Amino acid sequence: MTEVKEQVALITIFGGTGDLANRKLYPSLYHLFTKGFLKENFAVIGTARRPWTNDFFREKVVESLKGIEKEGFDPQDFASHFYYQSHDVTNQESYVQLKNLSDELDKKYELQGNRLFYLAMAPNFFGTIASRLKSEGFVDNDGFSRLIIEKPFGRDLASAQELNESLRQAFAENEIYRIDHYLGKEMIQNISVIRFANSIIESLWNNRYIDNVQVTLSETLGVEDRGRYYEESGALRDMVQNHILQIVSLLAMEPPIKLTTQEIRHEKVRALRSLRVIEGEDVYKYFVRGQYGPGTVDGEQLEGYRQAENVDPDSNTETFVAAKLMIDNFRWSGVPFYIRTGKRLAKKTTQIAIQFKSVPMNLFGGQQSLAGNVLVIHIQPDEGITLHMNVKEPGQGMLTMPINLNYAHSSPDGMNTPEAYEKLIQDCLNGDATYFSHWDEVSLSWNFVDKVANVWSNTKEHFPNYASGTMGPKEADKLVAQDGFEWFE
Ligand code: NAD
Repeated sequence: MTEVKEQVALITIFGGTGDLANRKLYPSLYHLFTKGFLKENFAVIGTARRPWTNDFFREKVVESLKGIEKEGFDPQDFASHFYYQSHDVTNQESYVQLKNLSDELDKKYELQGNRLFYLAMAPNFFGTIASRLKSEGFVDNDGFSRLIIEKPFGRDLASAQELNESLRQAFAENEIYRIDHYLGKEMIQNISVIRFANSIIESLWNNRYIDNVQVTLSETLGVEDRGRYYEESGALRDMVQNHILQIVSLLAMEPPIKLTTQEIRHEKVRALRSLRVIEGEDVYKYFVRGQYGPGTVDGEQLEGYRQAENVDPDSNTETFVAAKLMIDNFRWSGVPFYIRTGKRLAKKTTQIAIQFKSVPMNLFGGQQSLAGNVLVIHIQPDEGITLHMNVKEPGQGMLTMPINLNYAHSSPDGMNTPEAYEKLIQDCLNGDATYFSHWDEVSLSWNFVDKVANVWSNTKEHFPNYASGTMGPKEADKLVAQDGFEWFE
């Protein structure tokens, strides 16, 4: 168990009436409260345009905790630390009131000038908020000033750069925490332990023993009511640029010399720099895009992407991406990293499959072919690892059979995995940025993704090309099959 160190801070949530704040942020803060990480000396300001009172806001906060209340930690008591400030982020005057409230709460709760600003709203406001926080003196306090921002961090490299510059007016790079909630997931954080605490794993972790690596982030849901956002984004920007490339960099990086934020980030950046940039005609060799059409899922007939609200009936936006990534360095030369992500697929899963090379010769080949060894890291909904191996079938003769060695993270000890947001907010309050994205990672990822997006935006694909409830277009299977592999299911 890591030691719980109480944190003293004022947490200001821009977008305090929004979905993210209600579903994730308030429950996460409550968990931190029940763990003693937040005690008496903390306060939360929720801001949004609606004219709510403190009492009404507190009621909403208490409502968001339904079902997770813990004995001895009264939600009302927790919510009494919450204050609401009606505030239009584009209106300079309302920053004055917000600043007065912040200073008042700082004194009342003895917060030592520690401030965390959480921007849980559309990114087009980020620049304005940052410059006002600077001009109105929010960040000239004695304690720390930290900023958490939500994806998307731009729409391409140029807009990400612009966004970054606007944030940098008020916050230094080491004060900006770009949240990628995948990085807060238990099994993503476990990648470093699996790799660097097990000699049998790390010694095989290279192109001599690994055939290919597969990263799958599949969803069963469609675009639902987020058509407007998704039309601007698509799966490449929504999932590959951030979550998938972050996972790939953790898998591919060299062992850091120390487990410090700086050293880990340094190695992740080096891995991203080794990523082969795919552009022009090559995009069609290395990438497959798809868009879901109508289909049947669990007996229910579902409409296609183009029929969703706020989606162009002739949309060229991809809801599926599969790709073959190559990492051109000594360790990984020649090993494909296949990635795939999509909406309305046959099952919801996030997993990494490391496929090891076959034994040099199959001594048992007369009877049957040997299944390859695969290490699967289950990220969600299951959490754990499975190692696929071959053993002798009990009884006469030398028949082989595949078995799985399993470690399921959550079930054996009945522990609930802490929500990714909870961990990341705690890290940020502790000043630990290891599991947040550094600007260098963000910019390298955009540079990679932009080349693909440029080709795709200039050519029209024959969409829809996969039915809802399947695992994406056939071309995704061909991408892997042409190298002699198949997707690990
Ligand atoms: P939302 O639309 O539910 O909430 C937006 C909030 O911003 C509301 O509180 C709204 O009142 C406020 N707001 C809008 N314009 C304002 C203005 N001019 N002045 C003051 N307040 C204003 O959005 P959300 O789903 O909570 O998402 C917020 C951010 O988090 C977005 O960047 C989104 O991409 C990101 N995000 C959300 C989720 C999620 O699960 N909801 C997951 C990942 C990332």
